[in-house]
Amino acid sequence: MLNFRSASIFMAILVFMVFLLMDARLEFLWIALPLGLIYLIMLVIGSVMINSGFYLEALCKGITNEKVVALTFDDGPDEKFTRIILDILDKQQVTATFFMIGSKAEKQQELLRQVVAKGHVIGNHSYSHAFFFDLFGRKKMEQDLLKAERVIMKVTGKRPEFFRPPYGVTNSVLAKVAKKLNYKVIGWSVRSLDTVKKDEDEIVKRIKKGLHPGAVILMHDDREITAKVLEKVILMIKAEGYQFVGMEAMIGY
Ligand SMILES: [Zn+2]
Repeated sequence: MLNFRSASIFMAILVFMVFLLMDARLEFLWIALPLGLIYLIMLVIGSVMINSGFYLEALCKGITNEKVVALTFDDGPDEKFTRIILDILDKQQVTATFFMIGSKAEKQQELLRQVVAKGHVIGNHSYSHAFFFDLFGRKKMEQDLLKAERVIMKVTGKRPEFFRPPYGVTNSVLAKVAKKLNYKVIGWSVRSLDTVKKDEDEIVKRIKKGLHPGAVILMHDDREITAKVLEKVILMIKAEGYQFVGMEAMIGY
């Protein structure tokens, strides 16, 4: 299987063979450069596609024929919109997973308690959610995750089991840190694009089109449009004959 390890070993062998075959002549560079470029492109594609399994095995969907989906929310908690979303989930009797940013969670401790009390699961989405998170060194990334973990643990009394990388970007450092801290890394299979789309019906349509047994749906609980469209999304999913399950159950599939 093509992953970071196998791609790196294969490339190193290939470049070395070309080097030997060409007797270490300068022309060697003309072959080595494009090979290096291909390697670089593979690394970037592997980084931005969490479901590629290039750096690590992230759970992006349940393997099942049963009509079940899991709802996930990133980038909260948000004082205003997370509360609205909790009320809708309550009303519709749906549980979800909230991948929270530690620095926000620290300021919304009462909200965290509510999320857990209502039967939802809180996952780690890093403390800083820094723009350059994926450029962090191993130590810094580990500290960032642990800081978020401590905030969540302090309020809920439970260590988060799941981690979703900020921006869904993965790399070899992140893979090592997640493994060391024993996190189950969660991706998604249906992206609602609620951070981009301005039209509620478009979001509903997009999720409907992407629905499949075992779908993991990505939304954001810090967005007004998500709070507005969520009930429509849930009703559509129910009308399509699907049931909502938690992340633990989805992993079991
Ligand atoms: Zn995020």
